[in-house]
Amino acid sequence: MSAPDPTLLSLNVATVRTQWSLEQAIEGCARHGIGWIAPWRDKLAECGLARAKALIKTHGLKVSSLCRGGMFPAADDAGRRAAIDDNKRAIDEAAELGAACLVLIAGGLPKGSKDIAGARAQVKDGIAALLEHARAARLPLAIEPLHPMYAADRACVNTLEHALDLCDALGAGLGVAVDVYHVWWDPDLAAGIERAGKRILGFHLCDWLVPTTDLLLDRGMMGDGVIDIPAIRRMVEAQFYAGPREVEIFSQNNWWKRDADEVMRTVKDRYASAT
Ligand code: ZN
Repeated sequence: MSAPDPTLLSLNVATVRTQWSLEQAIEGCARHGIGWIAPWRDKLAECGLARAKALIKTHGLKVSSLCRGGMFPAADDAGRRAAIDDNKRAIDEAAELGAACLVLIAGGLPKGSKDIAGARAQVKDGIAALLEHARAARLPLAIEPLHPMYAADRACVNTLEHALDLCDALGAGLGVAVDVYHVWWDPDLAAGIERAGKRILGFHLCDWLVPTTDLLLDRGMMGDGVIDIPAIRRMVEAQFYAGPREVEIFSQNNWWKRDADEVMRTVKDRYASAT
């Protein structure tokens, strides 16, 4: 297998979210020779869309994704409509930035609900309601299945198989984001990646720590955990995925507490040695 291509490394801004603004992250990528960036919408709003776009252009970066849209299920019609309206704004922002895709997280159960099948139906309806807008903007939507531990509160789409069933049902303009943190445990991972084929729109990197001390905010740096990342890279590259690889690490007790330039150096080193 070839070495990881340094020109495909992308910084998901969540990796340095406590240390840096979007502007600092853009400058940091340029300083460290990282050619891609994936902003989150809260940081984008702080910076301002036009200003972010200009800074990204000035520094010669490309945008691997905008994080994130989705979160479709709601307790009532007004809530569902609000989610769709917000997703349309996210599509417009992603298109304005020239992002390769908008990442969609399904959303979990509405407050008080125990109806996970109903929540999943709402996700399907929500994505269906966005597709025309996304196609018109030429902006691919990447459904990112999340690990099942988030089914209640973040995403009730938990496997590549489920995400691909949605793609099959809803048609063009949709694909998947493969995040090693969310899919590494799946006994059907190889089959899912093969089934995804050209619909792989994003590839996200971090590691699964043992023990994991927080369900959300204890992701590891590549090489520090138990995920065989090169094996998963081999699977996505076998499907001719040649797009960016986003390093996305939420780490409240470790990487978010370190000097951000040290984090960037480590990201580059580990991308080369452990992915
Ligand atoms: Zn991800």
